[in-house]
Amino acid sequence: MENKADSPLKRDDKKENNSKDIEVTSVVYDAEQHSLLCAGCSCLCDDISFYLQQGRICRTLNLCEVGRHRLGTIDAEGRMPPLSASQLTERLKEAADLLRTRTPALILGADSLGGAALQETWTLAEDLKGIWLPWVFSGLQAFYDQVKKIGWPTALLDEVRDQANAVIFWRADPLITHHRHLSRYSVFPRGRYTERGHHDRSLTAVNTEQTIIEPLCQQYFQIPFEADTAFIEELIQPRPDNTFPHRDFPLMIKAMERASFIALFVDPEKTGKDSLEAMFQWAGKVNREGRQRMVIMPLWDGGANVEGFCRLSLEKAGTPWGTDFSRTFKPSGDPQLDQKKLAESVQSILVFEPHPDSLQSRKIPQALADKPRVIIDPFKQSPVQPADLVIPAALPGVETDDLFFRADGLPMKVEGPEALAGQEYPSIEKLLREILIEVGRR
Ligand code: SF4
Repeated sequence: MENKADSPLKRDDKKENNSKDIEVTSVVYDAEQHSLLCAGCSCLCDDISFYLQQGRICRTLNLCEVGRHRLGTIDAEGRMPPLSASQLTERLKEAADLLRTRTPALILGADSLGGAALQETWTLAEDLKGIWLPWVFSGLQAFYDQVKKIGWPTALLDEVRDQANAVIFWRADPLITHHRHLSRYSVFPRGRYTERGHHDRSLTAVNTEQTIIEPLCQQYFQIPFEADTAFIEELIQPRPDNTFPHRDFPLMIKAMERASFIALFVDPEKTGKDSLEAMFQWAGKVNREGRQRMVIMPLWDGGANVEGFCRLSLEKAGTPWGTDFSRTFKPSGDPQLDQKKLAESVQSILVFEPHPDSLQSRKIPQALADKPRVIIDPFKQSPVQPADLVIPAALPGVETDDLFFRADGLPMKVEGPEALAGQEYPSIEKLLREILIEVGRR
């Protein structure tokens, strides 16, 4: 930590400007820290600068809009006031009572949390005989079904940056969910073998509606969801007589032929099971032929630690999408159907960092809107239902140090600025331990 309070550059000055004096007031920072990680999404950008005054972040560098949305609200206006010790004890008891009596409880959204708190959510779900799910459980099931069936062609994001010369976003738009994905890994950076950045790559996107990324794409396919599988089959085996009826199809075929490394980023929650299977078969064929390499990487519109959740879930339950200790719910991989089935099974909810007005879609599903719930969140909730019990907490990765996994599975320790006065809020890990004591586990 570097203290710049006495830096000669940080003072109130009066400077001459030919005809008149101009008062120049420079901001004096109490502390500044650089090259920190952001846990706003699973890109985990590692070049963030924080400037602090009186124990608060007053300026940041390199955060995108998603990151600013997450960190910009950790000032007093964006948060619930911290609870007193007696209020907190009371609230935790009420939370434990609710989750213990309204069973089965759904523990939703632990993919927003760092490693230690994530572990505690598993223990709590096990103890309550509840249902333990990340925000994107349907997509995880659908994606890993293909991984099991066909095998997973994947890569580090650094390899994509260095080598990919054809990039495809399939029903995923990083300009909505992972803003700096394009500039750090997939399109604009100069890599080892893509020395001219985006001039060395072709960019394709597929979506039903117009999305923000469209103006950057050489090929843009605005096609209905139902057309995906036929489109992929044409890409696997282009037919000279009956090509896919789209203006950009011939361009895409050429781009695929020219590429030595194809990186396909897909949002499995928005892509059908058959289309996912066709995509994996396409990659399998390309890789077997051996002239090119093709990788498929999910771009989840979920918590920043989806990969951490998957790892823990695979280790503990043998499934990547979570587990159901109550044995009342089995996800089908279809998000709409799964929400209905979940609503029939669940009697209460413990949820982490729901974002009702977020850029990302971490929202409590409508089908579950009438279930009583405990919300643990660093941010102010709006609106709060009368049945909600809200417990304010420290922000993971900023006010507590945490282990997160990057989108390509790389583990990274995320630490906030040392001088940040976050001690007034308890960590989520500590809150979960207290709830566990209340429900009788410890
Ligand atoms: S892209 Fe993600 S990790 Fe990077 S600054 Fe934005 S929110 Fe943070």
